[in-house]
Amino acid sequence: MIKKKHILFIGILLIFSCQKKKEQLYLKQGLYISNVTIISTENGNYDPYIGHLVVENDKIVYIGKNEPSISGIFEQFDGTGKFVIPGLIDGHVHMTEVQGMLYRHMEKYPELVKEFKNQMPRSYLYYGFTTIINLGGISDEQINSFNKQPLKPDLYHIGYSGAGVANGYPMIYAPEEFRFENQPYFLYLESQAEHIPKKYKPADHTPKSVVRRIKKSGAIAVKSYYESGFGMMSNLPLPTKSMMTELLNESHANGLPLIVHANSLTGHSFLADIGVDILAHGLWNWEKYKQVPTDSLPLEIKEILDLQIQKQIGYTPTLTVIEGEGALVDKKFINQPVLKKVIPKKLLEWYKAEEAQWLGKDLFSHSNPEEVYKSYGKLQSHAMLVLKYLSDNNGLILFGTDTPSGPIYTNQPGHNGYWELTLMNEAEVPLNKILASATINNAKAFHLDSSVGSLAIGKKANIIIMDKNPLKDIEAYDAIEKVIIGGQVVKRDDLEVKE
Ligand SMILES: [Zn+2]
Repeated sequence: MIKKKHILFIGILLIFSCQKKKEQLYLKQGLYISNVTIISTENGNYDPYIGHLVVENDKIVYIGKNEPSISGIFEQFDGTGKFVIPGLIDGHVHMTEVQGMLYRHMEKYPELVKEFKNQMPRSYLYYGFTTIINLGGISDEQINSFNKQPLKPDLYHIGYSGAGVANGYPMIYAPEEFRFENQPYFLYLESQAEHIPKKYKPADHTPKSVVRRIKKSGAIAVKSYYESGFGMMSNLPLPTKSMMTELLNESHANGLPLIVHANSLTGHSFLADIGVDILAHGLWNWEKYKQVPTDSLPLEIKEILDLQIQKQIGYTPTLTVIEGEGALVDKKFINQPVLKKVIPKKLLEWYKAEEAQWLGKDLFSHSNPEEVYKSYGKLQSHAMLVLKYLSDNNGLILFGTDTPSGPIYTNQPGHNGYWELTLMNEAEVPLNKILASATINNAKAFHLDSSVGSLAIGKKANIIIMDKNPLKDIEAYDAIEKVIIGGQVVKRDDLEVKE
């Protein structure tokens, strides 16, 4: 039996030796970033320090203030004057789309589609997005062809489709002949029974059976919708409270978070009440309050937000949805030089052509640009007011762009993420909260925090090296020097479109 004083003695020896000895690391295929300012958090509080970071293969093996002693084979960077953060996570993308194109355009221009698909993963990385979460339907083929790309973010998804109600949003937009095939996880609504083909059995489309299949598909979350529609397509069928509650319980029973599309007062109120995990959009459709001034929140909206805060429901602002749609009337948008870095040349040319302007014409045929700016400006001010309230009152903010929010060319991969970050900054969300939203908050909300979301031993080496401090300057997100994805170091310039 070891006596107590012996244990104490061994303890003192250990402390003594730890202080004296440097961390010994033997690397076979390593990467060492020295003297760099490390900006990472596990809990939302940042305490940056100058330190050292060591990667072996695709994992972080050392991080700390003390200089490690390294031998073996490794590459070294002097990080003096530079900043490292964990790779960014965009929790709301649709990487299955080609921005600005409908099916007929894709059929007509297969070359443009191919060039876009080859560049798209690199464009996300160009702006530091090393993880993307696809929140619409995806096929195995789409997953495989994305993963075949040599340089790409880590892709996660919600399965072959969302769990929306039959003939509701978004499946109502698909032509009837493949509407049901394309939405294998639709939820059976008795009220829709007459409009559901007989081969689909109610028992296969309960929350329980749908979630089980979603889990099997390799999804990391269940996506659903609360959307009554817009314009000509309004009064769409909606999920009932008991159905959404069951969907939430079944998701949790399968270890998946439930993320729900909603941007209206009614939707946010309904979902806050149920206590879903994540809201896929901000609350910008204020319904009966849509004309109120943009300087204060109506009490009813405040109460809904307070409930979201109390339950710590993840809130994804997706400010670029509004900004991107409004930008369809902005002739200058597509001429921004920066877009040449993320959009292949021929596709960029096509966006400037008459044919690509179809959506702007559809949406805004009866209004001039000034009217569009005014109405979208109001919507955005409301969205920003809500975001600021949540930010000021300890709401759980998650980063997500909804890239692209529809078939629009103004939400481009990567570029849209940077735009979203700058809009959050405009909404006066502090820089530390912006960074947390795009890293640790998203990682925790989507249960990915054992591998990404912060810089820590054992986590994946998804790391961004910046020339500016992202806790001081939002432009740091456009001052990226290198992106490390799964331990592979890539210079930012190598990620841009090659002529
Ligand atoms: Zn979306």
